[in-house]
Amino acid sequence: MKVRGPKGTYDVLPADQPLRELVRTTAAAIFSSAGYQRIGTPAFEDTGLFERGVGSSSDIVRKEMYTFEDKGGRSLTLKPEGTAPVVRAYIQHGMHKLPQPVKLWYAERMYRFENPQAGRFREHYQLGAEAIGSGDPSLDAEMIMMLSDLYEALEVPGVELRLGSMGCPACREPFQKELSSFLDERAGAFCPDCLERARLNPLRVFDCKVEQCVAELERAPLLVDSLCQSCQDDFSALRGYLDSLGRSYRVDGTLVRGFDYYTKTTFEFECARLGAQKGIGGGGRYDRLVEELGGAATPAVGFGTGLERIVLALESEGISVPEVGIGVFLVTMGPEARELVVPLVHRLRQEGLSVDMDYAGRKMKGQMKQADRLGAAFTVIIGEEEIAAGKAAVKDMGSGRQEQVPLARLEDEIVLRLTQDGADGQKGSR
Ligand SMILES: [Zn+2]
Ligand SMILES: [Zn+2]
Repeated sequence: MKVRGPKGTYDVLPADQPLRELVRTTAAAIFSSAGYQRIGTPAFEDTGLFERGVGSSSDIVRKEMYTFEDKGGRSLTLKPEGTAPVVRAYIQHGMHKLPQPVKLWYAERMYRFENPQAGRFREHYQLGAEAIGSGDPSLDAEMIMMLSDLYEALEVPGVELRLGSMGCPACREPFQKELSSFLDERAGAFCPDCLERARLNPLRVFDCKVEQCVAELERAPLLVDSLCQSCQDDFSALRGYLDSLGRSYRVDGTLVRGFDYYTKTTFEFECARLGAQKGIGGGGRYDRLVEELGGAATPAVGFGTGLERIVLALESEGISVPEVGIGVFLVTMGPEARELVVPLVHRLRQEGLSVDMDYAGRKMKGQMKQADRLGAAFTVIIGEEEIAAGKAAVKDMGSGRQEQVPLARLEDEIVLRLTQDGADGQKGSR
């Protein structure tokens, strides 16, 4: 029997790390330049947090959560999304006392029991941001632009923005009645899931991916057409900001989230390269969630974007990041050379330099090959002859040029070479 990782999970192998690291560091730079600070929350939370924070009628809570009972009899859930835990932390740590809005970002693993498909996994990584404590539409624009800037900086191809509004309780309640009667009149045309959604929360029908339902919904009334004055004003203010920022978008009235605590702005970025399920990231305003989770009434807005989705889109373009090679590889022949080199390697590493040597008993040729595989900028060769002559051979792996350096000066020479011309072993150019 061969052991394998569980279905829907994957290993991040060393070769996959540089591109993911690039996504993370690019995101961190963009988010922190907008004043967002990183927060981390636990891998699991009380199940009730998501029932209240995502909504018990959502597909996520109904079908996709990893919920388990621990040995103390508590119902816990591996987090399926990032917003509810951050809001829980905001309330728990009294962040309402800080200057508002409190701006937070995260890079965390999330868990959803869904059928694995391209770029969608049961354990996946998500980057997200939340700004809690302001209802100003310019903050919605800031959020949208941070995500837009991230895709642009990474050169994610073919990204488009859909924008919607789901109003507030004042305009949504009459709309829901209108939508309900539309659905009742055409009950026969919808899938069983939609009929259940119609009963639990009519706005959720817009989540349906079944072709016939999507077609039928083209004639449905839209919330964006029924907004109250205040919601209309905020929506047009946001659109004005996006226009002045030069960010193109398409207003899509079907872009709604079916819970009372989601309000006003919703947005989703799509990438045509991702196939049928084009969503790459999105978010919206949730002015009533903090209150729903036990805090004071506090407006907020946020987004999330899947790391795997971004990586998939970049790979579809053939974008990759080369692995970083090491700085220097010390080739040793004979026990005397090793005696000299073992402490030298350690001292160089302590100076923060990237250094390696042979641990597999390879012959000279094999060691040179290993140095090449590791992407070493140069090698230092020390054998019995070199020790007898008091010199080491230093070979530049790029140019192939080789020179003799006295052993007494070797350490200084290595340090000089590795720090001077930024030769920190970037393999990419070779
Ligand atoms: Zn409204
Ligand atoms: Zn349906």
